[in-house]
Amino acid sequence: MTRTLILGAGFGGLATATNLREALADDHEIVLVDRAERFSMGLRKLWELVGHSTIAEGSRSREALAAPDIRVVRDEITAIDPGARSARIGDGAIEADHVVVALGAVSRPDLVDGLAENGHDVWSVAGVPRAAEALRGFQGGRIVVLIAGAPYPCPPAPYECAFHLHEHLTARGLRSSSEIEVATVQPMLMPNAGKDGSEWMGAQLAERGIGFRTGKVVERVEPGQIVFQDGALAFDLLIAVPPHRAPDVVVAAGLTNKAGWIPVDEGTLQTEHPRVFAIGDVTQIVLANGLPLPKAGVMAEQEGAHVAAAIAAEVSGTRDAPPFDGAGYCFIEMGTDSAAVFRGDFYAEPVPRLTIDAASPAHAEEKRAFEAERLARWFRA
Ligand SMILES: Cc1cc2nc3c(=O)[nH]c(=O)nc-3n(C[C@H](O)[C@H](O)[C@H](O)COP(=O)(O)OP(=O)(O)OC[C@H]3O[C@@H](n4cnc5c(N)ncnc54)[C@H](O)[C@@H]3O)c2cc1C
Repeated sequence: MTRTLILGAGFGGLATATNLREALADDHEIVLVDRAERFSMGLRKLWELVGHSTIAEGSRSREALAAPDIRVVRDEITAIDPGARSARIGDGAIEADHVVVALGAVSRPDLVDGLAENGHDVWSVAGVPRAAEALRGFQGGRIVVLIAGAPYPCPPAPYECAFHLHEHLTARGLRSSSEIEVATVQPMLMPNAGKDGSEWMGAQLAERGIGFRTGKVVERVEPGQIVFQDGALAFDLLIAVPPHRAPDVVVAAGLTNKAGWIPVDEGTLQTEHPRVFAIGDVTQIVLANGLPLPKAGVMAEQEGAHVAAAIAAEVSGTRDAPPFDGAGYCFIEMGTDSAAVFRGDFYAEPVPRLTIDAASPAHAEEKRAFEAERLARWFRA
């Protein structure tokens, strides 16, 4: 009996487990570990923030996976030994022939002085209900969407957040008595989308009267104001994308590089340890333009599918899987009923190639289907 141990059951881990189960008979054991009982997608956070829907409505129990014969372990992973291909999980340890590290990126508001006390972290599930309550109580003034660190999951999502806030305040009759400002630490709005993509995003913000400023390095957050290295910005409500880091257990395992993420081969997604793979937000793949591959659920999912194919090929002795091609797409919500699409060929040389499909109601429908299709594929209820 051979075994694959998948650490983390988010986008990447669920895709790996599901694809691997389809590819290999049940004499190959698949163990999928996550501390949390329920899965939900990041996009739900913004929907709950502005009251369109709830995170609960889009969440599913990991006890109810659609693929049969996957051993789901709900516990804390407290240590990983990549050399031995094993992990300490709760009170025990599990060894495997192949290990896939899919532990994501952790939102760390604690890394910015005053951020947790004076702002709302909507990049973690736990922060959303309080932010939604604060928004419901908001009666006009300035809302700042602050990108306090990079890289962070889903590069366009803070701007989607601003578009949703614009629509929400308009519907409540508060838009004319409110300002929405986006401030990002990055040198342009969307470095991964290049100058053209960033200018496109800037035009979308400007069209809706949303202000933006780039290159804003936060020193601290005080009650009612953000103090940057070069000035301050007052707010009545602060919606924050905190800095993100790899989980401590990954760092303690010695898997991370100087940037703090797991470096992997861009084609095989293998770490420096044989048969130990890493996928999704926890990884760093440096592109031809020197920027990292964006952290996104679609990328984690496609990487998971690729790694599953590679493991299945090795276990069953069939032909090698083709290398991961670095292509991905993402729907950018411009409000409830309109979305644009970014499509990226991120491994293109000399620079990643990106195209933008204009916003339409059809793309908003496709985004809702994006969630529904994955929940139906990964879960039976
Ligand atoms: C507001 C918002 C909107 C987004 N919208 C989109 C979108 O529209 N499209 C898109 O493609 N992406 C979107 N994303 C990004 C997407 O959610 C992430 O990129 C994706 O979840 C990454 O998948 P992953 O498998 O790498 O990590 P995750 O999905 O974060 O999964 C990691 C898992 O590891 C578990 N874990 C971590 N440490 C431990 C431990 N020590 N012990 C046990 N379990 C552990 C966690 O519980 C978690 O379930 C959005 C994100 C946000 C915040």
